[in-house]
Amino acid sequence: MTYFDEKEASAESVSEVAPAIVGKFESDNDKLSSLLNELEKKLIHMEEVLTRIDTAGYGKCQECDGDVEVEILKADPLAQRCSLHRSHN
Ligand SMILES: [Zn+2]
Repeated sequence: MTYFDEKEASAESVSEVAPAIVGKFESDNDKLSSLLNELEKKLIHMEEVLTRIDTAGYGKCQECDGDVEVEILKADPLAQRCSLHRSHN
């Protein structure tokens, strides 16, 4: 009888706690899918940059075709504009 009581009590507390866990999981899931979206965008951008590296276009300004300063590339390896055209974004 004691064993049965304990079992019932634990089943009850699980059903009380479960909605909180499920809720937490759902909000984590939302965060994860927005994180995934972000990563997907970055990946697409990376692929573009990699294509440009393949075609020796990496480090070139999209506006004037001049070299993007090393300082800018250090700060933002995906930068596609030189200091001159960066400020006009
Ligand atoms: Zn430029």
